[in-house]
Amino acid sequence: CGIFAYVNYGVPTKQKAIVDKLLNGLRRLEYRGYDSAGIAIDNGPSLDELSPIVLKETGKIDMLADFITNKENLNSDLFFENHCGIGHTRWATHGPPAPRNSHPHTSDANNEFLVVHNGIITNHQALREMLERKGFVFESETDTEVIPKLTKYLYEKFHNRVTFRQLVMEVVRQLQGAFALIFKSSHYPGELVAAKRGSPLLLGIVEEPGKNAPHAVLTSEGFKTSKEGPIGDEAPRDNGGKRQKTLKNHVEYYFASDASAMVEHTKRVLHLEDDDVAHLHNGGYGIYRMERSKPTSGTSSPVHYE
Ligand code: GLU
Repeated sequence: CGIFAYVNYGVPTKQKAIVDKLLNGLRRLEYRGYDSAGIAIDNGPSLDELSPIVLKETGKIDMLADFITNKENLNSDLFFENHCGIGHTRWATHGPPAPRNSHPHTSDANNEFLVVHNGIITNHQALREMLERKGFVFESETDTEVIPKLTKYLYEKFHNRVTFRQLVMEVVRQLQGAFALIFKSSHYPGELVAAKRGSPLLLGIVEEPGKNAPHAVLTSEGFKTSKEGPIGDEAPRDNGGKRQKTLKNHVEYYFASDASAMVEHTKRVLHLEDDDVAHLHNGGYGIYRMERSKPTSGTSSPVHYE
């Protein structure tokens, strides 16, 4: 399948333009899968009352585009200074093509956690049975739906005291099989987290010339580590220990399964490697290497991309 995401930080963008960017990105990935498609964007009566909505349809991207055009609950006046949109074009492996089986998949009716997935989760049956015992009700036949539901389950289990990245790492530790994943959440507005193992995923970066550049944080991190990388609200501490704001503005990011979906936007593209977790937050990005099983001896060494 094809995964596509568009994130704007400090770049005021109309909701319609965001939808168009997502649809155009998905069109370029359509050769990877085209039995159904969907997007998740923020919507609401006003900027104070935003909530993620999911729009999906069986068939090609043009069918989804028509479906969205006819959708009345989109607010055409909305524009977003900061926004995280995700999209997916499906090649079904578990469950026939149908709106309920299309991605993004959700944790619950409020779309607290939304996930797009390329690949196959081989232990989905065991996870599903565990989650059903906890009271989760599934609406699709996909292997993917366990992921947002497991995310919500773990979010509540950890008493909400985890960063989005830590939460996703804990989810990914439970998954077997092949995946490229992007997570969006109403609990972490303005953030996306991506993870991969086996399926491709690329991060594209568009910086406005002359503005501060985002910096990559390349480190290893286990779930138990409370240390935050220098994205988010603080760091780097090169200012006499004083908290420094990282860059906030004028950056766009794309995720895509394939570079061809973002060449029209940027040539600055990072290929995520297996067990990488990418975190977009507050205008910056970080790429973290997960330790899958027990840590190897000694300290883990940073990985380098650029
Ligand atoms: N296994 C997932 C499904 O059947 C994802 C398939 C894909 O990569 O499109 O929905």
